[in-house]
Amino acid sequence: MTEVFPTKKSLRVCIVVPCYNEEGVIGHSVAVLLAELSSMAAKGLVTADSYICCVDDGSRDGTWNEILQIAEGSDQVKGIKLSANFGHPNALVAGLFSNHHRADVLITIDADLQDDVSVLTRMLEQHHQGKRVVYGVRLNRKVDVLPKRIAAGLYYKLIRMMNDRTVRGHADFRSADATVIAELEKFGEVNLYLRGLFPLIGYPSAEVHYERLERHAGTSKYPYGKLMSLAWQGITSFTTAPLRMVFYIGLTMFFVAAGVALWIIWAAFNGNPIQGWASLALLLTTFSAINMVSLGIIGEYVGKIYKEVKHRPRYIIETNI
Ligand code: UDP
Ligand code: MG
Repeated sequence: MTEVFPTKKSLRVCIVVPCYNEEGVIGHSVAVLLAELSSMAAKGLVTADSYICCVDDGSRDGTWNEILQIAEGSDQVKGIKLSANFGHPNALVAGLFSNHHRADVLITIDADLQDDVSVLTRMLEQHHQGKRVVYGVRLNRKVDVLPKRIAAGLYYKLIRMMNDRTVRGHADFRSADATVIAELEKFGEVNLYLRGLFPLIGYPSAEVHYERLERHAGTSKYPYGKLMSLAWQGITSFTTAPLRMVFYIGLTMFFVAAGVALWIIWAAFNGNPIQGWASLALLLTTFSAINMVSLGIIGEYVGKIYKEVKHRPRYIIETNI
């Protein structure tokens, strides 16, 4: 597509905010975002009718009531209520796909505003300069505990080895124009890993860097278990490298086994055949462990295929205001 994104006119922006049990924080966050929108409108970066869309991802607290109340007081606030908890990425696409027909640029940001809101201006400037996707990149993780930081560092190293388009330090704080979101909609996969998908879509992109802040209120919805599963999802949704690794391990083990066999034959011919079951037990346990791990990895991909072929809807919208 050769069309150049309009750079002169101000852009209608929709900020998608996924909310899961965020009653304590959503009111404050929307107020901050609205203030930011009007300051950007004053600079001519965004239109005065730019708006926020809060997506309630099946919260069990009073989040939806909060959203209804806020929306009542401002026509710049809209809301979507999902029928159940579909998870962060699904809540994001529910918001994006419901709004890309009426906005020029769509931004996703967490409800707790841990991502620096003042960066939005720089994101929009990039769009005015013709960029279509702008990734928010965390400069440091001072607010995260040490194990989380180390794990994150290792994870990015690993995932970049397998998929070099991954943007290091980028989570789900990004802006993209409506064309990009329309392209994203064509990716029908159920195993959604958005931070990997956007780089795949292509188009000119930019990064804006910021310091990650503390959660304003409430608690993290990503305990370690969920984080691990997100990391695993990141790898298995994007690359079949682990499957190839299984093959290479198998190949290596084949040569090891051949070596051991030669050694046994050689020893037998020299009159001192190898005795005892210790070596046997060692080989047996080693090989069965490797077999099991390999089966597990293959199983993971089979599980993914199972989910994909069922092709269940990624989200269900109960109410849209
Ligand atoms: N979230 C969601 N559905 C979920 C879990 C989380 O929509 O099932 C939202 C949550 O409300 C927040 C964002 O995803 O806006 C990120 O969650 P959180 O801030 O708890 O993650 P962390 O910053 O601790 O990684
Ligand atoms: Mg957070």
